[in-house]
Amino acid sequence: MSATHAEDSRHHLVVVGAGFGGLEVVHRLAGAPLRITLIDRRNHHLFQPLLYQVATASLATSEIAWPIRHLLRRRREVTTLLATVAGVDKQARRVLLDDGSFLSYDTLVIATGARHAYFGHDAWESFAPGLKTLEDATTIRRRILLAFERAEREADPARRKALLTFVIIGAGPTGVELAGTIAELAHMTLVDEFRSIDTREARVVLIEGGPRVLAAFTEDLSTYAQRSLEKLGVEVELGSPVTECTANGVVYGGKTVPAATIIWAAGVQASPAAEWLGVAADRAGRVQVEADLTAPGNPEIFVIGDTAAVVAPDGSPVPGIAPAAKQQGGHVAQTIRARLAGQAGSSPFRYQHAGSLATIGKRLAVIDFGRIKLRGALAWWIWGLAHIYFLIGVRNRLSVALSWLWIHTRDQRSSRLITQGSASPKPAASMPARTSEGAEL
Ligand SMILES: Cc1cc2nc3c(=O)[nH]c(=O)nc-3n(C[C@H](O)[C@H](O)[C@H](O)COP(=O)(O)OP(=O)(O)OC[C@H]3O[C@@H](n4cnc5c(N)ncnc54)[C@H](O)[C@@H]3O)c2cc1C
Repeated sequence: MSATHAEDSRHHLVVVGAGFGGLEVVHRLAGAPLRITLIDRRNHHLFQPLLYQVATASLATSEIAWPIRHLLRRRREVTTLLATVAGVDKQARRVLLDDGSFLSYDTLVIATGARHAYFGHDAWESFAPGLKTLEDATTIRRRILLAFERAEREADPARRKALLTFVIIGAGPTGVELAGTIAELAHMTLVDEFRSIDTREARVVLIEGGPRVLAAFTEDLSTYAQRSLEKLGVEVELGSPVTECTANGVVYGGKTVPAATIIWAAGVQASPAAEWLGVAADRAGRVQVEADLTAPGNPEIFVIGDTAAVVAPDGSPVPGIAPAAKQQGGHVAQTIRARLAGQAGSSPFRYQHAGSLATIGKRLAVIDFGRIKLRGALAWWIWGLAHIYFLIGVRNRLSVALSWLWIHTRDQRSSRLITQGSASPKPAASMPARTSEGAEL
């Protein structure tokens, strides 16, 4: 059964995924002679670059996400559907939904992003959640805040130490941003608020299998980032991949670190679009698209963003970042417009890299614009202004700017609520809470 009953002879574009890529396709097709159905399994567009700030209690969920339906309310030709895509019938030109219904398309754009990958250790996910969705961010926030709460009541020194140890696996931008901010939370923000523990004793351990942090940046920026993290009190462990991850901690390079909070920031796996389409994928599961971003053998299907393996003009892989997804969305919209205007053929996508940015805590950042490289406080201001600029809506820009001002000047983080009850998450199960007299609660 069809998911919609619209009788309409206009060209029907179905876009799956309202992330950076999918939403850009829809935005750039304003006024084009077609109707669009935008499908997403969540009701909101998410600004993932600031997710770590929700996970570390700096921003609220509503400051970095917007209802898709509201964003497109003025576009009468766009229908938004909250639904999960489970496959594609290429012969019948149908998108298959997980409830058994389907949607016919003339042109299809798949922009379903990626999830974290555990390199064959899927069982680690329950001990070391990754950061990709708002739910992930609030789960991590809850674990971090609960660890401090439980440490406050813990009499046993070894258990208290494990509760006050935070391990982050993977030292890319997300791992570095999480480590720096958790260190600031423990060593600055929370210092006056607990009575039985000294939160400054908390350990933040950043473990990276490769030889340096921020491997995508130049070596001098990596070194600067590592030194800055160490000044914030982060222990940086390089060259030793994690070999074991349990409810009690991690093992890497033959060392065991008991820790109640472990966060996964290493590796991504594309959404299963390649399986839906029955086309070749790279090791990360990304569809190996043609130069014009179409799926091989299917000129009416485009695959973009984190779900696509795209090569830049210099032969290097296009990075899985928001500007790349947006540029691809813009290119696809241009191709669709040209086709609707009766032009045959399509031009290859050409990626233009504007730069790489990463923050280290609330005052420092590194920026690589190619010829220009910046680090320190100036880089942080540029990073901050760029992120505020790319947020959607004046209210959110003001709200985020105000939250950051408060963090900067008063060290107060506004979003420190533990929701969904205070029952211990899984990793704490083997470490029951005790009163100071040692009686189990
Ligand atoms: C923690 C984190 C920090 C990041 N930081 C930065 C940064 O600082 N700078 C930067 O440029 N990039 C950053 N990125 C990467 C950037 O967010 C991605 O490259 C970008 O979001 C990719 O856009 P996309 O459109 O391909 O996918 P996404 O933006 O992930 O959107 C995919 C959409 O598809 C939907 N979807 C998925 N599967 C289905 C399905 N089966 N059915 C229906 N809908 C589905 C999802 O709900 C989602 O809305 C970060 C990513 C993460 C996770």
